[in-house]
Order: sequence, then structure tokens, then C-alpha cells
Amino acid sequence: MIIDCHVHVNNYENENEDLLQERLDELQKTMRRNRVDISLILTSYKVVPGRPSTKAVVEKIRGSKSLYVVAGLSYLNFTQYELDEIKEFIQEGTVVGLKLYPGYEPFYPADKKLTPVYSLAAEMHVPIMIHCGDTYTPKGKLKYSHPLNIDEVAVEHPDINFLICHLGNPWMRDTMEVVYKNSNVYTDISGLVLGNFSDRFEKFMHKQLQEMMVWGVEPSKCLYGTDWPISSMESYLDFMDSLGIPQRDKEKMMFENAVSFFRLPVSTAPPSGIAGKFPFLKSII
Ligand SMILES: [Zn+2]
Repeated sequence: MIIDCHVHVNNYENENEDLLQERLDELQKTMRRNRVDISLILTSYKVVPGRPSTKAVVEKIRGSKSLYVVAGLSYLNFTQYELDEIKEFIQEGTVVGLKLYPGYEPFYPADKKLTPVYSLAAEMHVPIMIHCGDTYTPKGKLKYSHPLNIDEVAVEHPDINFLICHLGNPWMRDTMEVVYKNSNVYTDISGLVLGNFSDRFEKFMHKQLQEMMVWGVEPSKCLYGTDWPISSMESYLDFMDSLGIPQRDKEKMMFENAVSFFRLPVSTAPPSGIAGKFPFLKSII
């Protein structure tokens, strides 16, 4: 089983054009082609035709066993009404986490204005993913997206699990420390490269990542995610294969960690019965 904990259905080429259905179809096709069983769709901090709201995505994927939503929130614009709506989506099982975008918006994660957001996460036992590292736009402000900022919220909210997105790239060592120090902080490997790990910068990244993932980060605290469609699912699977991670650790990163972190309704127990004895039958059964 493979779970991609970090994908988007935004139309990055043209924010004025609504492509939600096309993106969802493309996502499911790409998942099938790459044998990805479950994807978590992260909604944006802004809602425009090309960046659908949490509600719009929830209404499309409701009932799916392979798609779930992590609700993006805007520090500047979130409302109590929106939080109440998200609470209902969490109760029905379509929303499994929250996402904040410091750097893209000017705020530190420990800002007191976010108290209602943290209360919702604690009450509903859902984790919070936090964008960290490069903002991919010169308009972003990096001081807000540094992974060290997660230490403060993690200490203040020991009852909430946090996830530092993108390994905090390029501050991966800082991420490593925050993840190591705080039992409630995890990380994902999404969005680290845009291509297929073949150009100069990507080769450099590959080496860093290899060290980090084999030696630096506790395998049970690192989750597999791609940032599709910004990064490709194909190159991420090749990348995972190329790292030389022990098989048991790879299983945790690509599946088990996400099931427990997001409390997904999927069993991590070894398959039993006939499908357990003959794994190839699973696809038929
Ligand atoms: Zn992303």
C-alpha cells in the first residue's frame, strides 16, 4: 500500500479557471498508474476559481476510500463559520487534518490569533500540517516559514501532532532537530524537486536526502508525500527506490505512518486469510 499524504488539485497555470473535476480525474489516473492507494488533497489558503475551497473538494470526494482532504486555512481570513464547517467534515471522515501556510501569509505559527484553529485540532484529534521552507514565490517571507518556528507551537500544544512539510527544505537539519526534540512533530518529503532528480541541484538534494532519510530522521516520523502535480509521482517512487532505505522503514514512511498520523480508516495489520497467503489475489478479491 502507498499513501501520498501531500497532493493538490489547484490550477497553478491559471487561477481564474476552475479545473477541479479535471484535476481529480487526472489525480486518480496518476494514482492508478503509480499504484498509489490513497492521496490526501491539501486545499489552499486562498479560494479562487482555480483554487477550490475545502467544501468544494469535500463535496466531490465524499464517500471515496482513496481520497481525503486536509483543510487549508488562511491566517488572514479564516472565520469561525469555516472552522465549524470543517468540524462537520472531520466528523463525517472526509477531512483528516488542517494545513497552515506561514511564509505565503505573514504570520508565525505560534500567533495567538490561531488559538481557535489549535482548539479545533485538539478537540477533534486531527494533526496540523504546516508549510515550511522555500515559498516558491519571491513574494513569500522566509522568516515565517522556517521550521524552527514549529518548536514553539509544538511545546505549547503537546496534545496536537504537527507535520513540517517539505522537510523544511532547505533547512533540513533544523527540521531534523525539531522532529527529534518534540514527540508531536513529524515531517514529509514532498515538493523537494520538480523534475526527475537528474539535474545538478537535484543530484545535490538527492545526496542530502539520502543521508537525512537513512540516518537523520526517525523512520516512524517521516511521511511519504509528493506535492503532485508540482512534483511527479513517478520520479518520487524512483527516488524512494534509489535511497536504499531498509524495507521495513520504507513501509512505515510510505503507508503506516500516514494511517496512524491521520487516523485513516485503513488497517495496518498484516493481511490475513487467503489474500495474505497469496498477495497477488488481493487485487482480484
Ligand atoms: Zn504542497
